[in-house]
Amino acid sequence: MSDIDLIIERLELRGHRITSSRRRVLDAVLAQQAHFTVDDLLHTTRKVGRATVFRTMKILLDLNIVCRVMMDDGALHYRLSTGRHHHHLVCTNCGRVEDFSNCDVNSLVRDLQSATQYEIEAHWLEVYGRCQSCQLLASVPESKSAATSKRATSARGGRRGNN
Ligand SMILES: [Zn+2]
Ligand SMILES: [Zn+2]
Ligand SMILES: [Zn+2]
Repeated sequence: MSDIDLIIERLELRGHRITSSRRRVLDAVLAQQAHFTVDDLLHTTRKVGRATVFRTMKILLDLNIVCRVMMDDGALHYRLSTGRHHHHLVCTNCGRVEDFSNCDVNSLVRDLQSATQYEIEAHWLEVYGRCQSCQLLASVPESKSAATSKRATSARGGRRGNN
């Protein structure tokens, strides 16, 4: 059974009807690379209204079929989810996203709960940094890029100081 059939089955089990528009949104979701925005979906789901795309994404979110990633520029992206509780490690340079699931915030949540009397329901944590390949790229001697982008290079060097 393909991914799309499994997802449709899960939706139908929850009582969601699979209209042709929803089916097109599902196809578009599965065709995306890594992570994507609603606008990315709208480019490939011609004739499907924005509201339908948003509603379908809400259903997929509620069923943990997709999750949201907050990129470091504040843009919300979607990504196929593992379904289990996890967080994201986001590279601020190339935008690559990886999951991590060893989140150890139970004691923090307990302390918060007793200090504030809140009934804590959820938490959301994204971690930002530079992935290994971006670090490697940054450490390559600037011979090639120096000629073509002198200004960009010096601006970058200036911002990062003498690393
Ligand atoms: Zn995720
Ligand atoms: Zn990177
Ligand atoms: Zn967590």
